[in-house]
Amino acid sequence: MVCLMMAGSTIAFSLSDYVNYKRGVAEFNRFHVALHAAAAISRERGPANSLMGAPQEQQSQLVAALRESRQETDRDIASIETHFKTEIDGSAEMSNAFIALKSQLQTGRSAVDAVADIPYDQRSGARIAEAIRAMFRAADRAQDYRDIAGRSIIALAPETSAEVILTSLAGTLRERAGRVGSYVVMMATSQGDARRNYRAAFDAELNRLQEVNAILKTYTPVALQSPGIAQVLDQVTVNYFSGSLLYAQRVAFELNSGNPPTPAEFSKKYVPGLTSTEKLREEIENSSLSSLEAMRQKAFNTMLVAILLAGTAISVMLGLVYVLGRSIFRPMLSAIRQIDDIAAGNLLQPPPMRHAGREAREMFQRLDLLREQQRFKRHLEIERKSMTEELRRLSQTDALTGLLNRRALGEAMGELLAAPGASIDGIGIIMFDIDHFKSINDRHGHAVGDLVLQRTAEILSPYLRAQDLYARYGGEEFLIVLVDVTEDFAQATAQRLCETLSRAVISEEHALTVTASFGVDWRAQGAFEHWEEVAAVADRRLYQAKRNGRNMVCFSDTPEEKAVVAIAETGSRGASGTDAA
Ligand code: GH3
Ligand code: MG
Ligand code: MG
Repeated sequence: MVCLMMAGSTIAFSLSDYVNYKRGVAEFNRFHVALHAAAAISRERGPANSLMGAPQEQQSQLVAALRESRQETDRDIASIETHFKTEIDGSAEMSNAFIALKSQLQTGRSAVDAVADIPYDQRSGARIAEAIRAMFRAADRAQDYRDIAGRSIIALAPETSAEVILTSLAGTLRERAGRVGSYVVMMATSQGDARRNYRAAFDAELNRLQEVNAILKTYTPVALQSPGIAQVLDQVTVNYFSGSLLYAQRVAFELNSGNPPTPAEFSKKYVPGLTSTEKLREEIENSSLSSLEAMRQKAFNTMLVAILLAGTAISVMLGLVYVLGRSIFRPMLSAIRQIDDIAAGNLLQPPPMRHAGREAREMFQRLDLLREQQRFKRHLEIERKSMTEELRRLSQTDALTGLLNRRALGEAMGELLAAPGASIDGIGIIMFDIDHFKSINDRHGHAVGDLVLQRTAEILSPYLRAQDLYARYGGEEFLIVLVDVTEDFAQATAQRLCETLSRAVISEEHALTVTASFGVDWRAQGAFEHWEEVAAVADRRLYQAKRNGRNMVCFSDTPEEKAVVAIAETGSRGASGTDAA
């Protein structure tokens, strides 16, 4: 934004300069029109004076010259009206000044025509002088427009002040030189006091003329530095000051003696010398215009350079923003997202960021490293968890049979009974002990004994449900908890387990079968305080089964109760526990 503002203000300043100089050039056009009109009015006095000072028989030729001169003036006045239309339409003062210019000119011309209509020998010097003065006033009005345009140019382009002032002065020089000639005509056509008054006016005008000339000669060559100007200034000195003016002075001094020239004769010799003063004004004007145009061109070039520089600066800025965005800002945002992801546990490798700057790439490498460390940490954590799980499992499991050990059984029962709505129908606990196990050890060795324990666990597991608990309770003693069962179901299960074990082959190699004695107790929900009470009853009944002959299930404490089912007949098969006993 700052770059844009700086570029914008630079362009705006140079644009405003350019627009000012451009308007200055346009304004100069109006300046020229006003100067030209003033000069035309000055010029018109030449033929007017000649006509007023000429006898009737010489007038026809002079009238034609005057008409031509007046037409030229009228064209310039019309031009003023066109070029100063805004001011004339917009300001009452300017409008009045324009009306005054035209009416003053008309007054002057009427006075000139009136004098020309009077027979030559009856014309008075006073009337001629009055007509000339009326024409002076018309010229003064035209100067107003020159000054408006001049002020306007200086306001727009103050650097051209010297040129504008010098151009105005050159116009003034022409006007003064013209008036000097006019005073000679006034003197020539008057007598006595009137002539002395015109002579005083002639001298005053001459002084002013010299002053204006001195200023022009002093400042113009320095201010404009154009070789043409120096040349024209020399022409003015030679043609006018050393030519026409000297002639005018001689005529003025010799009026009382000898044979003075008629106004027409005087004008004929005097007026050509004025051309150099007009040429001087044109030269200064041209030089001013070209210096103004040079300034406008310079401002235009400066504006182009400003636009170019501003455009380059903005392009560089945009390029920088693009490159920085691609190499730093976007990678930065991506890094923030990646850090958030890592913090949230998302360790997936993000796609690589192309175009990232060197520093950003190093940052991503660190992030990759961090991700790798986090992955390793997570791996360790998983391993630790699985080891803990394994340890927990090992601590709860009997190493030989894979069943719950006694401690784990205690915990599982605690959880089971604490759970809301546990064992709705009640729980059944079955305890069983392998019959004559010692003798198996004795006959086949401990390894086979161990195998018997493993196979017993294995053979009976399929007959239990997932929710039932199965534990090795002591050396060759097992405990089963049937969860949420009826008493009948508990008894039937115990019976089925007893039969299944007695029929199963423990080891083909040793042709070994075993039996076990079972004790069962069932309690309804809430009918016991500690599960161990139930287990103790089951244990007691197990021993009752032992006493009753083994390989059977005992449901009650009474030995002769019919609920005790003996399946002694199975004991006759193979190397049964009964045989072993
Ligand atoms: P009963 O029918 O009255 O139960 O007689 P039994 O021989 O099975 O009972 P007893 O209590 O006399 O013997 C149990 C034997 O179990 C004693 C012990 O050496 C053996 N034993 C205990 N734990 C293990 C074990 O982990 N492995 C092996 N191989 N034997 C064990
Ligand atoms: Mg035993
Ligand atoms: Mg035992």
